[in-house]
Amino acid sequence: MNSTLVFGGTFDPVHRGHIESVCAVARLLGDVDVYLVPCQIPAHRPVPAASPEARLKMLQLAVANQDRIFVDDCELRREGTSYTVDTLLGYRQRVGESGRLLFLMGRDSWVTLSSWHRWEALTDLAHLLILERPGTDQDSPDVLRKWLKTRQVQDPEEMMNSSSGKVCFLSLDQIDVSASGLREAIAKGSSIEGNVNPLVMNYIRQHNLYTGASLENKVRGKRMEH
Ligand code: ATP
Repeated sequence: MNSTLVFGGTFDPVHRGHIESVCAVARLLGDVDVYLVPCQIPAHRPVPAASPEARLKMLQLAVANQDRIFVDDCELRREGTSYTVDTLLGYRQRVGESGRLLFLMGRDSWVTLSSWHRWEALTDLAHLLILERPGTDQDSPDVLRKWLKTRQVQDPEEMMNSSSGKVCFLSLDQIDVSASGLREAIAKGSSIEGNVNPLVMNYIRQHNLYTGASLENKVRGKRMEH
């Protein structure tokens, strides 16, 4: 049976850490369709610097040549705050009750999980895969450690005979790139070559994204609250 892997984020901008990580996970899982889902209004962080349309376009450029990696704008089409639980409900309907559904996130997202909307329902809908990430060695908070007790597996292979319900930490090659680091580098006029797809790089240049002026406007913008 094939799997469906959902990877959500702000992708502001999409970078090597996202694409190489998701490709490595896809190789590990084998027969899998991958969906990259940019959020509209993130629940737990400032409003993205680039518009939803620009973030969507950059994602499309980044995966243009990738087989079985798709960009899904479902959260951009939904009004208001983007909740992962709503997205996974939609995917569960698509793949059916017995379809294998996985949601991928980095450890920095994992450690905040207990503040996500209806977070405990996430494993009713999907398996969770957590990527270790450079600079994020924070332990799981107590509430998540307790929650993991009945859910954690050591190998994604152990997720292969069920449609949802398990959590697995993956120690793949870690890629030391973050979107915030890239935005800062662009604002300072430093090169980000090698860390984003060349087509994405051109798009950023053509649309003058993440330059000092545009970042300043964002800093003045209000922070979105959950
Ligand atoms: P920012 O620096 O603005 O926080 P980001 O680089 O974390 O952005 P997001 O779009 O917020 O990018 O991340 C989407 C998902 O991808 C999150 O679950 C995040 O943990 C994960 N992720 C991002 N970069 C990496 C990376 N280099 N390695 C592993 N996971 C990553």
